[in-house]
Amino acid sequence: MRLRVIKRDETGARKCVLELRGKKAELPTKVPTSSEVNSIRKLKIKEPIPQTIVLAGKLLNFQRVARLAKDDYFKAQLASISRFFRNFPGAVRMFYAPILDEFSLNEDAVKRLLDLQYLSGVEVFTLAPTLNTSPKEFFKLLKVALKQIDRIAGEAVFMPVVKVMREEEDTREVFQQVKKLVEEGQVSCVGVDVRGKFAYSLLYSVRDLHEEHPELWVHALQVPPKPLFGRRYLDASYGLILPYFSVDSYCRWLRPPPPFPPIKEKLNYFDPSDWTVLHLGKVAERSDKMPCNCPVCSESPVEKFLEGTSFTVLDRTKAHAVYAEEKELAVSKEYIGRGKYAEIIKEKEGTARILSVLEGTSGKL
Ligand SMILES: [Zn+2]
Repeated sequence: MRLRVIKRDETGARKCVLELRGKKAELPTKVPTSSEVNSIRKLKIKEPIPQTIVLAGKLLNFQRVARLAKDDYFKAQLASISRFFRNFPGAVRMFYAPILDEFSLNEDAVKRLLDLQYLSGVEVFTLAPTLNTSPKEFFKLLKVALKQIDRIAGEAVFMPVVKVMREEEDTREVFQQVKKLVEEGQVSCVGVDVRGKFAYSLLYSVRDLHEEHPELWVHALQVPPKPLFGRRYLDASYGLILPYFSVDSYCRWLRPPPPFPPIKEKLNYFDPSDWTVLHLGKVAERSDKMPCNCPVCSESPVEKFLEGTSFTVLDRTKAHAVYAEEKELAVSKEYIGRGKYAEIIKEKEGTARILSVLEGTSGKL
């Protein structure tokens, strides 16, 4: 794997090219997940999906991880992941499974998860701790994973994932362990599972790590539409601020956001004009037309966007985010390339709002 940095802006934002097994991806980018791709399919949208990197996601719990030891279940999971990847032959393929419940990751589970990834043909293996895995135990498992990947898939790369844990101290410890692997030259990419939160101190640490290791690829996982800061959600796009922290690529969270079942008017909608995120109810209050010309919205009447069940509308917001965020990231890339990224993030209301909240925080982890 090779990451070529074309420009690093003074804010920390980077414009890069990722090269892996003959595949290329321009960064920063939003990585479509299998859940978003399913939404696009259900809506029968013909417009090609941006596909330089794709991520197959599976929500697993303790029972499902245990069932992976059974042949039938393992084969069924493998078939569904492989089917998804078949549609993206030119993209860098990744798999990620956030494990939902209380269970401490063990060696057997890690091996099964890695086998699943290997057989489905990923280029990027991921491994994250569960919330009940101690940082010390996770470090041991990282070593196990490194050894196994080296044995079964020499050319593939391993992305250890730093997850936002229950205790900040644990997050810090997991970060330090992954940092050690970077410094030893054992890994060339790092994942950051923000678990829906605005993990700003972790993100600042990632930015510092990047400064020392510019060849490192950082991918953020479980990124919700809006950052949860303290106890409130900011009406700003989480994804669009990530390049400020030198994050090269990111994907949406796999766990469905509350409320469940979704309520149409409360669904989050990325507003591309000022990089904010609004409830659809608010979008309807502001205008009769959708404020976007992507293949999903095509500036149609808001009423039309809200037609159908709340799940169909949720599919539309997800599909819209795939096209619209990628389009705005192209704007980010252009500004980063000119060394003027600070200008655009201050000009856009959503990202400017995040910056004003961050002012005064040192954010060191
Ligand atoms: Zn749109």
